[in-house]
Amino acid sequence: MKLGTDPEVEKFRADLADFLDTHLPSEADAMPRSRSSSDMPEWARTWQRTLFDAGWLLPSQPPEYGGRNATLPQQLAYLEELARRRIYQSFNPQGLGIIAASILSFGTDEQKRRWAVPILRAEITASLGMSEPEAGSDLAGLRTRAVPDGEHFVVNGQKVWTSGAHDADVLLTFVRTDPDAPKHQGISVLLIPTSTEGVTRRPFASIADPGDLDFNEVFFTDVRVPRENLIGPLHQGWTVANGSLGHERTLLWLSFAERLDDLIRDAPSREEWYATLLMDAQALKLLGYRQLSRGQQPAELSVLKLLGSEAVQTASLRALEERGADALVHPARTGPYSHMNNDAFITSWFERYVRSFAGTIAGGTSEIQRNIIAERLLGLPR
Ligand SMILES: Cc1cc2nc3c(=O)[nH]c(=O)nc-3n(C[C@H](O)[C@H](O)[C@H](O)COP(=O)(O)OP(=O)(O)OC[C@H]3O[C@@H](n4cnc5c(N)ncnc54)[C@H](O)[C@@H]3O)c2cc1C
Repeated sequence: MKLGTDPEVEKFRADLADFLDTHLPSEADAMPRSRSSSDMPEWARTWQRTLFDAGWLLPSQPPEYGGRNATLPQQLAYLEELARRRIYQSFNPQGLGIIAASILSFGTDEQKRRWAVPILRAEITASLGMSEPEAGSDLAGLRTRAVPDGEHFVVNGQKVWTSGAHDADVLLTFVRTDPDAPKHQGISVLLIPTSTEGVTRRPFASIADPGDLDFNEVFFTDVRVPRENLIGPLHQGWTVANGSLGHERTLLWLSFAERLDDLIRDAPSREEWYATLLMDAQALKLLGYRQLSRGQQPAELSVLKLLGSEAVQTASLRALEERGADALVHPARTGPYSHMNNDAFITSWFERYVRSFAGTIAGGTSEIQRNIIAERLLGLPR
């Protein structure tokens, strides 16, 4: 694979730039903000549908799923261009990047038509129900039970940290269908509409702001889910889990590279830590390109996630320390407003720092990444 100024990639990039210049919603149109990761104001739905119809939503997919069969270097160019212009293609990021993508990988044609396409066209929104109070890093320890009953499963249990669940139409939910099997087996995946009787969603505030309601506890009490909502084979949910998160992981480092570029631009001073920030950003990009050009090596993705998320956190902490009490003033403007992005860049340094923990916890904590690197890359004993 060749990275760089390949004429085909540059033509692709130029076509995208033309499309964005012509179709991007104006700042006035985009005034109503998204309140959670599954809340989509009408303009954001229209925007996502425009991308879908033009084949610019998930470029790697065929046209019927909002793409144009793009190659990996073209996908990279796509994400770079969106990041450079601070554009979200979806304000339901997990719906697009994990849930629809999982249904496209593991669902039947009927499930793709019934669930994936409406999520991609932003007719409905979706959240991800994986983590439980006793099953986060150790996801395979999940205990939410689904018991077959005729043409249904009956689900009982609890999820937590379910981003945007209170605004979602459907939850991709990981459940235990065989309690006697070893824990990585006997897990299945169900699509559960949130309107189903017995589903209770309780949003709770994040550390960033008492008004920031994205996290949810979700309780299932005798919830009846049709068998046709099973995604992938029965008891094979672990394969779906790895696939689901795999969708998120390959180019995840780019989002950290974007954050580092923001920090380089917004840094309140040019003290010594600024040099570290510049070097971390450059190292991340070079390692990311190398990883891409060599093909998928899952353990190397852990290096990228660890480096990117911790570099963002360290630099945000330095900025916070430097600003002292001023860093708490809320909302202190720490960067330019970007109407096609969530408001992360107009918040205080305090908020930028605490939000950096999303990077070092979600999608596998830093400790878990270090374990993977130690065992799979360095060959250290468990
Ligand atoms: C912003 C954000 C959004 C999220 N959104 C969602 C969502 O939409 N849906 C969803 O299902 N989940 C979501 N999560 C949850 C996330 O997946 C979990 O927080 C994560 O998997 C860690 O699990 P835990 O919080 O239970 O921590 P635990 O697994 O209990 O870990 C606690 C501490 O112990 C450490 N630890 C655990 N095991 C080991 C080990 N083997 N070796 C060394 N250290 C270890 C961890 O690194 C951590 O520091 C989200 C989390 C965040 C921060």
